[in-house]
Amino acid sequence: MKSSITGLICPKCHAHYDHRELQGLCRCGSPLLVEYDLISVGKKVNPDKLRHRPATLWRYGELLPVLDESNIVSLGEGFTPLTLLPKITAKYDFGNLLMKDEGVIPTGTFKARGAAVGVSKAKELGVTHVAMPTNGNAGAAWAVYAARAGISAHILMPEDAPRITRNESIAAGAEVYLVQGLISDCGKILARSIPAHGWYDVSTLKEPYRIEGKKTMGYEIVEQLGWQVPDVIAYPTGGGVGIIGIYKALKEMQGLGWIGEKLPRLVAVQASGCAPIVEAYRKKAKESEFFPNSKTIAFGINVPKALGDFLVLEALYETGGCAVAVEDREILESLAELASTEGAFVCPEGAAVLAALKRLRAENWLKADETAVLLNTGAGIKYPDTLQFKLNYCPVDGTI
Ligand SMILES: *Cc1c(COP(=O)(O)O)cnc(C)c1O
Ligand SMILES: [Zn+2]
Repeated sequence: MKSSITGLICPKCHAHYDHRELQGLCRCGSPLLVEYDLISVGKKVNPDKLRHRPATLWRYGELLPVLDESNIVSLGEGFTPLTLLPKITAKYDFGNLLMKDEGVIPTGTFKARGAAVGVSKAKELGVTHVAMPTNGNAGAAWAVYAARAGISAHILMPEDAPRITRNESIAAGAEVYLVQGLISDCGKILARSIPAHGWYDVSTLKEPYRIEGKKTMGYEIVEQLGWQVPDVIAYPTGGGVGIIGIYKALKEMQGLGWIGEKLPRLVAVQASGCAPIVEAYRKKAKESEFFPNSKTIAFGINVPKALGDFLVLEALYETGGCAVAVEDREILESLAELASTEGAFVCPEGAAVLAALKRLRAENWLKADETAVLLNTGAGIKYPDTLQFKLNYCPVDGTI
């Protein structure tokens, strides 16, 4: 499974960069995207050959950036289940509603995909220290993969980020700083401090390889549907890496001839307390504006301004998709509904996607005969305090 990487390209100014050296943002400030020689990929692999490969994201090795397999740092991530939600499908008259469940991946969120590929590539390029701002889940994932790679991790997170991710990061030996503020404040502090330390800045989209890890969700969805694309893929959008990655994967599969002309309509789901992409989409804008005083229980999507916003919006416009904001109240309702009907205890970000899809179905944006994929980006057990229940104590006489 030899990588067919050829280099890095800037989607904004089209400058090229060498993948054999450590890279960050383009000179123009844009994130960089990885390019592959698709003709060479096509000679080495095809859907038929893929069938026999191990069920991890590394099965798409030709389309991943790591050159030497000995640099791969893996905890077995990828190839998560794509399962039908039969009761919700029937109740809301969906054609088919499927859930791609990233809750079962190492560290309990899909951030493991970005971390596995990002850390592996950093190791290959000789990095010894990585640093990042995070709302929690990315920090935890990078901390464990960095530990496995023997790389030091320095992590800044808001003090009210989920406590469990803080503990995971510290347990994995990362240096964790808590910040009284948002992820954007963490990012500013890091940008100021990084030159003095010489750490490699692995902030969302500032290093080019985590997209490559996350794009594998797109390959898997299509492979799991027998190389058919669904009509809609809906994704909880914070920094937007997942949706950018899925779009990139779809374009690559088109280039390889593995899928046809039709692309799924991509839907970016946000919380109404932090909806910069939704506001930009409504204005048909190419970029988003900073969303002030953002607040939502869905921590992973509390990103007031994403560096890759223009790429997210392009993916929505190019696929005929849309952007939807849902209230925290709807997120909680959908979370409880998924657990009690389908036995799926998802994260609030995943629940937000169900809330959005119900609305899109009610408005008939999503038709009755269409197949939609709900991306659940993490496990509900990573958010032990999101749902508050009235507890039912056993009576003192011990009879119930
Ligand atoms: C980070 C995160 C998101 C948002 O992911 P992006 O790809 O950055 O948009 C969604 N859900 C969870 C659980 C997350 O941790
Ligand atoms: Zn550029």
